[in-house]
This record gives sequence, C-alpha cells and structure tokens, in this order.
Amino acid sequence: MRGDGTLRSLRIGDRELVLEKGDITRHKADAIGNAANSRLAGGGGVDGAIHRAGGPAIMAECRKIGGCPTGQAVVTTAGNLPARYVIHAVGPVWRGGGAGEDELLASAYRSTLERADAHGVETLALPSISTGVYGFPLERAAPIALRTVAEHLKKGKTSLRRVTFVLFNDETMAAYEKALGKLAAGG
Ligand code: ADP
Repeated sequence: MRGDGTLRSLRIGDRELVLEKGDITRHKADAIGNAANSRLAGGGGVDGAIHRAGGPAIMAECRKIGGCPTGQAVVTTAGNLPARYVIHAVGPVWRGGGAGEDELLASAYRSTLERADAHGVETLALPSISTGVYGFPLERAAPIALRTVAEHLKKGKTSLRRVTFVLFNDETMAAYEKALGKLAAGG
C-alpha cells in the first residue's frame, strides 16, 4: 500500500492481481480481454485497437459466432497479437444505474474468467470494460471489476495465475489504484 492508500498489485494466495498502464494489444499474456459490442461487429476504443493489431482472423471468427448477449463473453483466436486467445466480453451501456448495470458488468468479467479457465489460461490481461464509449462511471466500475476478479482468484479451482488490468490512461489507472487500495484494506 502506498501513502495515499493506492495499490498496484495484490497477492491472493499464489495468484496475483496487477494494475498496469498501457496498450493491451502490446501485452503478452495467454489471453486478452476485449470490450466488445453484442453483435461482435467491431467498434472503436479497445475493440478497434484489438482488431487492427490482431488482423482479420479475429473478425472472421466473430462473424461465425454471430453475437454475444450483454454480461457474457466469447472466445476467438488472437490472430497476430502476442496472445493465444481474445475473450470478447460485452459490458452494459450505462443507462443511469437503475437498469442492472452493476450486475451486468460483474457478469461480463465473471464470464470472461470462466472462459479463461475453460481454455486453461494462466495469464490474462483485461481492459476496463464499459468505461469508455459505454459511459459506465469509472469510480463505480473499478471496484466492481476488481472485486469480481479477486473473488475468482480466491477460488480453489482456476487455471489463472495472474490477471493484469491494462489501463489506457492516467484517469483510469488512478481510479483502479484507489479501488485496489480499498479492496486490500477490506473495503
Ligand atoms: P466500452 O464500449 O465497453 O466502453 P471502450 O473501448 O470505449 O469500451 O473503452 C473501454 C476502456 O478501454 C476505456 O478505459 C478506454 O480508455 C480503454 N482503451 C482504449 N483503447 C485501449 C487499448 N489499446 N488498450 C487498453 N485499453 C484501451
């Protein structure tokens, strides 16, 4: 823990939850998460970056799968990316907070973690789902994201050894550092 109550990594048994600033398309891990839309149709933000860097093989598989409900996730190849899989999670669009957004966001992360386990993934990188174009408030999303991953890493049965949130800008990094500090302090 740092003096200001923020934190960049948390050990959970022999597993680890890490925060890093950067571009997820450059991150080496067994799998990377994507913040996709329910048609898996490609978009801007992290989704656009993943398709650009990974090449057309990812979209070809997305087309075959056809779509994914909000709160769920599907797996494709990672194409040219330095990962084996992309796990496309569909987070909720923010509608003011009364439309089940919190639970749908947690569910999008849970589904991603379950898919990762199903593929024997040991290292997973995740973006901050729903906090870009989908407008989910960062200060509310960060604790949900971190709590959901921490709960999963506490489970006896998971292939995951390290989950790294790769956060694109200072504002997002600061919100996650604060939330991780609170989580570690039991909040
Ligand atoms: P959503 O539609 O789910 O809100 P966005 O892609 O618009 O998804 O934003 C989700 C988060 O991904 C935002 O915090 C945004 O800053 C971040 N982001 C955008 N590009 C990248 C990237 N290359 N690597 C990691 N995060 C990224």
